[in-house]
Amino acid sequence: MTLLNKDHFIELDRQDPLAQFREEFELPEEHIYLNGNSLGVMPKASKEKARKVVEQEWGQGLIRSWNTADWIHLPRRVGDKIAGIVGAAPGEVIVADSTSVNLFKLAAAALRLRPNRHKILSEPGNFPTDLYILQGLERFMDGKVHLHTQPRQEILDAIDDDTALVVLTHVHYKSGAMFNMAEITRKAHEKGALILWDLSHSTGAVPVALNNVEADFAIGCGYKYLNGGPGAPGFLFVAQRHQAELEQPLSGWFGHANAFAMSDTYEPAPGIERTLCGTTPVVGASLLEVGVDIMAAADMGRIREKSLKMSELFIALVEQRLADHGFGLATSKRPAERGSQVSLTHEHGFAIMQALIKRNIVGDFRAPDIMRFGFTPLYVRYIDIWNCIDALAQIMEIAEWDRPEFKKITAVT
Ligand SMILES: *Cc1c(COP(=O)(O)O)cnc(C)c1O
Repeated sequence: MTLLNKDHFIELDRQDPLAQFREEFELPEEHIYLNGNSLGVMPKASKEKARKVVEQEWGQGLIRSWNTADWIHLPRRVGDKIAGIVGAAPGEVIVADSTSVNLFKLAAAALRLRPNRHKILSEPGNFPTDLYILQGLERFMDGKVHLHTQPRQEILDAIDDDTALVVLTHVHYKSGAMFNMAEITRKAHEKGALILWDLSHSTGAVPVALNNVEADFAIGCGYKYLNGGPGAPGFLFVAQRHQAELEQPLSGWFGHANAFAMSDTYEPAPGIERTLCGTTPVVGASLLEVGVDIMAAADMGRIREKSLKMSELFIALVEQRLADHGFGLATSKRPAERGSQVSLTHEHGFAIMQALIKRNIVGDFRAPDIMRFGFTPLYVRYIDIWNCIDALAQIMEIAEWDRPEFKKITAVT
């Protein structure tokens, strides 16, 4: 490859069809934010929305706002909008709880749909909460089901006639590696198993076509690429064909067919609402809607194109400018196997990332040696990629990372 130069990046920004979306976000001054895969940035409209929800809807409307501000339909309304982003139909997605809790509800529900099977299949190194939740479920089933993990290259062969449910994260949180959703879903169904996809690092980052691949269940996160705000509620998907028979264990009153009849007996709502448990976190779900609206207005094909181009350029610059500094590449160079992030390995990764953050270039670190750089095409510019690598090269050349201040371990890396 010919040597890349700064002008090339400036030109790419000039031609970028997504460039105007950056205006919708409030980034701190002089920051390069490459951590939207962990916590997305704040849409400017979120401030106004927060004020409206708190001052008017809560402050003035009080209890009336369940009707007058339509709080009661918030989970479904935002869910329908997310459905459009992940290739689902209206009525198949709802906003609820956290990603972890949604996994518990749907995994338990899926097991009831395959009562004579004993295996849940996942991969070692999946996101910790996914494995922990499945381990908790396993304990509660008193030996009736067991969690089996198999390395990703061997997943297809590990799906067998005893597999009730396959639970995989579409884009891996650490490496950014992406599974072939269509192929694995097809294999699961061939074997009579159900599949649940965790879309935490996919939604708003890569094209997802849940109904095209005939996925059964999915869960995802509101505060990453959807820019819903810290601790935003998660969402879940249940394919229409499973809804009527779906029984989930957290049968709270918001999932009741008629919550305000105040009956003593639980009767599940007919559709996706039966996956709800308790009262909607109204403030969080309202802010999530702002992020979702922006994402829904953007073209996913263009997002993917820019994301791949950015990660490709990032990798090329690492090779061009950092070749002698001990970095490894933990992300696949094949576009079909890559989400919207690039992960580098380095034995001093933590300190190097701290030195970058000190310069207001924000990525993050995952033990033991992974430096993650997330590319969020709606607000990251091509020039940010150039400047990030430029700073990284300086940090390495003068061993800036080797200062004691960059080696203090923080609670959240
Ligand atoms: C971020 C993430 C979660 C988050 O779960 P919470 O319940 O919101 O804490 C779950 N799974 C994966 C794969 C994630 O990346």
